[in-house]
Amino acid sequence: MRGFFTRFALVFSVVALAGQVPATAQDADPADTRWSFAIHGGAGTISREDMTPQEDAAHRAALQAALDAGSKVLEEGGTAMDAVEAAILLLEDEPRFNAGRGAVYTWEGSHELDASIMDGATRDAGAVAGVTNIRNPILLARKVMTDSPHVMLAGKGAEDFAVEQGIEIVPPSYFDTERRREALERMKARQLSSLDVDLKFGTVGAAALDRNGNMAAGTSTGGMTGKRWGRVGDAPIIGAGTYADNRSCAVSATGWGEYFIRVGVAHEICVRLRTQHRLEALTAQLGVPKDDNGWPETVVHASELDLEPEIAQKVSDDVMDDVEKLGGDGGIILVTPEGHALFSFNTAGMYRGRATSDGVNEVAIYGDE
Ligand code: ASP
Repeated sequence: MRGFFTRFALVFSVVALAGQVPATAQDADPADTRWSFAIHGGAGTISREDMTPQEDAAHRAALQAALDAGSKVLEEGGTAMDAVEAAILLLEDEPRFNAGRGAVYTWEGSHELDASIMDGATRDAGAVAGVTNIRNPILLARKVMTDSPHVMLAGKGAEDFAVEQGIEIVPPSYFDTERRREALERMKARQLSSLDVDLKFGTVGAAALDRNGNMAAGTSTGGMTGKRWGRVGDAPIIGAGTYADNRSCAVSATGWGEYFIRVGVAHEICVRLRTQHRLEALTAQLGVPKDDNGWPETVVHASELDLEPEIAQKVSDDVMDDVEKLGGDGGIILVTPEGHALFSFNTAGMYRGRATSDGVNEVAIYGDE
């Protein structure tokens, strides 16, 4: 009989391992619960030489404000979804980033904005593509998730839905900025491709783990300067620019969107981490001593295993190497269920920040920081 129950426990645990649900904090002492948060404001050829001290300081201040907004939500026990939204809202309103107010120009001189958000607890997701008059596309993406039966809405239909939902509409001229107009003119004058790295960085994103063990990620962008023909990048595509799954990680990406779509970057990283987690749990189970009946004396739960940050870093770097091998560049931010917040990028710099309940709190711009 004992054998039966032990066997049942083992089978049950293997099923649980296959599902890999890491520990949630629901029944833990709140003081013991961790949160973790990461943000980005785009990756590209960002160098100290090209940056004035004032611009450097202004970018850092904007990143810090967004990092603080999300961290406050998490510190106070709020949800990962709310933290992601709070940070992205600020970054969308900041003209220095290529999202919301500071969105780049299309070839025709207009703005088409993309955004997405994903809840790692339920794997619900929402996204919008090619919207022209939505002040904060991240809010509309979340509405698509919560108040429509769909995952992605595009163009005029998405804008009609926004009106129905009471989302703030602005005139398209709200997104006009001198800096982005110059970038378009420079691109046209120099006959650069819209894929020139200098002209596309500035996308924003956030990834979070909250005190209940729930994760979320979101991304928002104006896309690439001079984009044409209704081009849509990776930012609104669930699995490419954004992915969150409590069982593995939360990721937001930035960079040359076509490559991130082809590699399925955000989903690929999460799947590799989930597989890694499962492998470690099974390996640990094999090491448990056996009782007289030959059954393991204890059962290892996936939730007891903390994936080392080095593993998450390696997995992220490997996927970014894959992007590079195909010819793409950019970067990602990643938060794990264990509370690690990481970056991986193959560009000279990435506007970024991270904060955790363990006291980490930093923003950075250049590759050597
Ligand atoms: N990934 C964005 C896009 O391809 C651009 C960026 O992140 O800079 O639309």
